[in-house]
Amino acid sequence: MSGLTLNKINKIYPNGFHAVKDFDLEIEDKEFIIFVGPSGCGKSTTLRMIAGLEEISSGELYIGENLVNNVAPKDRDIAMVFQNYALYPHMTVYDNMAFGLKMRKVPKADIKEKVEAAAKILGIEDLLKRKPKQLSGGQRQRVALGRAIVREPKVFLMDEPLSNLDAKLRVQMRAELSKLHQKLKTTIIYVTHDQTEAMTMGTRIVVMNDGIVQQVADPQTIYNYP
Ligand code: ADP
Ligand code: ADP
Repeated sequence: MSGLTLNKINKIYPNGFHAVKDFDLEIEDKEFIIFVGPSGCGKSTTLRMIAGLEEISSGELYIGENLVNNVAPKDRDIAMVFQNYALYPHMTVYDNMAFGLKMRKVPKADIKEKVEAAAKILGIEDLLKRKPKQLSGGQRQRVALGRAIVREPKVFLMDEPLSNLDAKLRVQMRAELSKLHQKLKTTIIYVTHDQTEAMTMGTRIVVMNDGIVQQVADPQTIYNYP
């Protein structure tokens, strides 16, 4: 089981700024949940606490049954996809996708199998020998997704992953991400300020404002359509 429980999570930055206030949420196993809200409302801070990249000031975070407040990022079974693809420019697509597995000392043959399987899911089998600069924006974003997928994490965190793509590609990737979610059967927590993404991709929407969870509901309720 890979649901998440956020129990009165707070983030107070060292400068005293209270960025996330008593964040309470149960995320179901295999849910595709969307965080929306104005810039600066605490979405990224919350994601970063879930990933373990930012310390939790108070409250408890459970992944499945496990309290993970003090668990290192690499041991949380979580993968993160950002808007700036953060690919290694000097490595091939294959090596970009393989990198995380190599670091975890996964046997070479298994790495090859996982990278090739992920490449197939994403339709980038023919790009494995290329370098990032030889790819289009959409292809790079697929590689970034591939790098997360190969690790087979229980939970994906995605912070505006499509915001650097042009409008047409965004529409296409939206549909692909929804399909990917069904294929992978994982939990996805997805941050966006794009209302269409929020309306069409998620099962539930969390509306944040000023570090507070204002509303949690399905897209129809939030955006008021029949
Ligand atoms: P969002 O992702 O919703 O745009 P963030 O989580 O990035 O918001 O930021 C929430 C608030 O916390 C913002 O007001 C931001 O300026 C502040 N903040 C982010 N990082 C730090 C930091 N390291 N120190 C102090 N304040 C920060
Ligand atoms: P190394 O430890 O030197 O990376 P590998 O045997 O894992 O050795 O692979 C050698 C190189 O061949 C890799 O670094 C990768 O760039 C490339 N490679 C391996 N499998 C594939 C593949 N299916 N498609 C494209 N490139 C591949």
